[in-house]
Amino acid sequence: MKNFWCEVYLDKLYNNLKIIREIAGDKKVIAVVKGNAYGLGIQEISKAIEDKVDYFAVADIEEAKLLKTEKEILLLSPLISKEDFSTDLKNIIFTIDNKEIINDIPEELEAKVHIYVDTGMNRMGVKGEELGDVISQIENKLPNVKIEGVYTHLHHTSNVKYTLKQIDKFKSYIEPYKNKFKMIHCLNSSGFINDEIRTACDFTNAIRAGNIIYGYDGMGKGLTRIYNYYSKPVNVCEVKKGETVGYGCLFKAKKTMKIGILGFGNIEHFGFSKDLRKNIFIDVLKAAYNSIKFRPVIFAGNRGIRVLGRSNMNITIVDMAGISKDELLRVEISPILADSRIKKIYYNENKEEVFFDGNISLAGDE
Ligand SMILES: *Cc1c(COP(=O)(O)O)cnc(C)c1O
Repeated sequence: MKNFWCEVYLDKLYNNLKIIREIAGDKKVIAVVKGNAYGLGIQEISKAIEDKVDYFAVADIEEAKLLKTEKEILLLSPLISKEDFSTDLKNIIFTIDNKEIINDIPEELEAKVHIYVDTGMNRMGVKGEELGDVISQIENKLPNVKIEGVYTHLHHTSNVKYTLKQIDKFKSYIEPYKNKFKMIHCLNSSGFINDEIRTACDFTNAIRAGNIIYGYDGMGKGLTRIYNYYSKPVNVCEVKKGETVGYGCLFKAKKTMKIGILGFGNIEHFGFSKDLRKNIFIDVLKAAYNSIKFRPVIFAGNRGIRVLGRSNMNITIVDMAGISKDELLRVEISPILADSRIKKIYYNENKEEVFFDGNISLAGDE
């Protein structure tokens, strides 16, 4: 037994969505469930929120196939290729993010599209001055394609001034054609929770929400993290003073002590502390601990637990001083980085386990 699992709290998920709706007002909510719903289970999460969101968005057609939904699914730029247009999924909205791809679309295709406009990310996207041309090419060549929306991506929201300029750029690019678009969107999570940025996006009528649905803590809007990883020691044993622990003798006991063996390690993608530090799930606790000598990533209650030596493939060893063998240890790991195979348990508001029905197939099991 690994004794290592991820708990997902659906009541928190729903509460986040409720807050998002309240702030969003009339704007439609496009739930971004790419990357296996940020690691929390694309099928379970999409099922759980299906009647609480307006659209879904995924990164590629393979992810779209996993969603069992009647809702429309926006395929986000930039992972769209010619082959995708032959999908038999009827509820896909394609993104057109370059001129060339228009020639790859079969003439008879009946579909909706959004146009992705580049406003400085320079990754993909139709340039502002090409927008008119792209619109008329689609209208002229593809009689059954309906241009329904236009969007751009805010890629540097920590710089509000930059972002406001970017939004202005977007606004001016789409201004001449705005009546053609039913949907105009650019707000992502970090833009959405910033009042100034959100206000500047008054001309848009949808948001693309990822992070804020799952776990943006500490942004003052009452949004909370919907998951926790937990571990219970598989075994607890004693190490005598002067002895070392684990590979490379990286830890030497200064006194006789109790150590705990935890059943996770690099395979679960644990142990890359640099990555954890860049983790987008900013945790208030973590910030507080930042100022003291070690930076715990495993907690018993609020107390940081010391990892002894370094995690190896499937095991992490910790100092068990003052901790009982049965204590639940919370492990700080981002679900985005964590192995998607880690067991997930979904709970409702009464802390009862929720099972999603048998329609949920494994990835690729179509
Ligand atoms: C991932 C993604 C989002 C969601 O971003 P968050 O910051 O998680 O809300 C929105 N738009 C696009 C184009 C994305 O790729």
